[in-house]
Amino acid sequence: MLKKIYNEAVIDFEFSPDLPILIKSGYKEVTGPDMVFVKTMRNGEFEPFVPGSSIKGMLRSHAERIARTINGEAACMPYVTIRNAKSDKSLKEYVSCGDLFKKKYGKEDPPTSEVYRDSCPICKLFGSKYFIGRLETSDAYIKQGSTFTLEERDGIAIDRFTGGAARRAKFQLQALSQGTFTSSIRIRNFELWQLALTLISLKDFLNGFVRIGYGKSRGFGKVKGTIIDTSLYYFGSNLPEKNEIKGIGAFLKKGEAVFYGYSKEDRIIGIDLHEKEPVGLRTAYAMDDIDKFIDYSVNKLSEYLKRWKRPQWMKDKIQQSIGG
Ligand SMILES: [Zn+2]
Repeated sequence: MLKKIYNEAVIDFEFSPDLPILIKSGYKEVTGPDMVFVKTMRNGEFEPFVPGSSIKGMLRSHAERIARTINGEAACMPYVTIRNAKSDKSLKEYVSCGDLFKKKYGKEDPPTSEVYRDSCPICKLFGSKYFIGRLETSDAYIKQGSTFTLEERDGIAIDRFTGGAARRAKFQLQALSQGTFTSSIRIRNFELWQLALTLISLKDFLNGFVRIGYGKSRGFGKVKGTIIDTSLYYFGSNLPEKNEIKGIGAFLKKGEAVFYGYSKEDRIIGIDLHEKEPVGLRTAYAMDDIDKFIDYSVNKLSEYLKRWKRPQWMKDKIQQSIGG
């Protein structure tokens, strides 16, 4: 839809296990534990890594919870279809944006401009069936030159049907107890509320409030970590002032901004940035004080979420298909 890039944020971060982490591989190894950590070949050896999709999924579900706390309409549930909501009416409010576009357009792809405009805030940032999303996560690899420890542990498989202790079976799993991963998040053409929501969700993860991977309720998946660098890139000649951060709406012509539901006033003044070496055609700034940015932008975020309403056509579709 937007054929140009106006701004971009890149957040580099690292984390290590506070409690053991296990990101399950889909494969069992020939010998060893029943459940193993996902690995990749690097520098001639197999190493554990955390797929970007796992990081994105964790951030998304946390961001969904934050959004829904403020406004139930602000986050759909990506796996809920109209069909699901027919059999469980409590899901009615949460039918996924993707399923509603599918209902409206059938086999055709919906126009991309409409997809962005009408998608819930969470789909706008993380994507949906018809939209790739503004946020991208990279795979997290073991930090260069650092070590890691994978441990085998006893797991207890509780029978899913009886839940009874009588049918407990022992199995072995492999978890990472020590090691540091580095990764990054990139948001292209961001609105300020999106950068705020991303940083808040990421900080909650790095502070151990949100867990990742297997066994989250059984003492696994808690990390500690830090944001190493947050860089902002701007393209072209329409640059913000040195202490200013501009969201995409501030770069667009009024009509275009209004059409997509962007705010023309998407800017914050008073954040100290320092200029970095330009990268190609991009002007680059580092934002050192992330907490200050969050302080300054959190109102924009909650106002945006509070004001969000699902488009009427989506509500009508749900009503027609499911009824009262
Ligand atoms: Zn959605």
